[in-house]
Amino acid sequence: MRQLYYEGPRTLVWHDVPEPTVQADHEVLVSTIAATTCDVDFAVIMGLSPFQPPFSLGHESIARVVDMGDAVHGFEIGDIVSVPYHRSCGTCGPCKDHLPLHCDQNEGPLLPTYGFPHAGEWGGMFSEKYRVPWASRSLVKLPENVDPLAAVSLGDNLTDAWSTTVPHIRKKPGAKVLITSFGGYGLYAAQWALAADASLVTYVDHDLDRLRLAEKLGAHALEWDPRLRSNETYDVIVNARMGQEPLEFALRSAAPGAICHNCIIFFENIPLPLGPMHTSGVTFISTYCHARNFMEQTAEDLAANMINPRLVESEIVALDDAPERLAMPSHKPILLFEQGLH
Ligand SMILES: [Zn+2]
Ligand SMILES: [Zn+2]
Repeated sequence: MRQLYYEGPRTLVWHDVPEPTVQADHEVLVSTIAATTCDVDFAVIMGLSPFQPPFSLGHESIARVVDMGDAVHGFEIGDIVSVPYHRSCGTCGPCKDHLPLHCDQNEGPLLPTYGFPHAGEWGGMFSEKYRVPWASRSLVKLPENVDPLAAVSLGDNLTDAWSTTVPHIRKKPGAKVLITSFGGYGLYAAQWALAADASLVTYVDHDLDRLRLAEKLGAHALEWDPRLRSNETYDVIVNARMGQEPLEFALRSAAPGAICHNCIIFFENIPLPLGPMHTSGVTFISTYCHARNFMEQTAEDLAANMINPRLVESEIVALDDAPERLAMPSHKPILLFEQGLH
């Protein structure tokens, strides 16, 4: 079967590898219907991360169950499922504490995710098939009325963008929301915030196409400039843009009692504007996305047609074209593994 490898900056290559098989009674084997890049993949592909090639890429996909172990329950062959980008058992102490990325069942010091060098034999999701452990508690069946391609990012960015906006706006109707962005995550966050009835959603990016799209979605679009200063203050802030300056801009734009989520992985220590943060009393949360905690709620809101994530889709990519198209990835390209769905 085919599996896409990151082999160096802007270099992606299909490898022919043996098909995986179910290895334990709690595992499921899935075939990929479609997959997409996370904003982190953009950094990896451009050589902006410390992750050294080669490794099998991809950790956002929608898939179909094709085989399962005897202990798996609640799923049938043929079910369309969303798979979290991380592997977790759902029953250990950390999983019960809603910290599935720190699941006790995983070996090794690094996070148990697909599509990074430490994924080992689990590989990446830009694969025709892959295994999912502890499937009964890990997989989320897609509601029947949801377009699978609309849910391609449900195991990561789409759900994280829901969790950093919707619950806060539901608690504070009419909240003002600021999103700093350099890709699909910020556009999803803008969609969720607008659908949750934020009174203002300001979307900050350098890319003119994405700014235009954000405006079309209903956001106030603001072109990023390192000298940018905000006249407005915001109740809910999502920093989804790489670099120290956007984060500092975001934190300095906090209204009294605001909540600010940082979704960017920083590979080095950076200073924070503690003076303004202390004055606003902003609650600052910086964490990897514990996607599995929120996937069902996000799927419910998709089933209720709260947003159409396909408006954020940047292109449909045939597998043969993937190495070339993904060498300089657009913000949300869809790799189509199963034909006949789009
Ligand atoms: Zn990701
Ligand atoms: Zn666990």
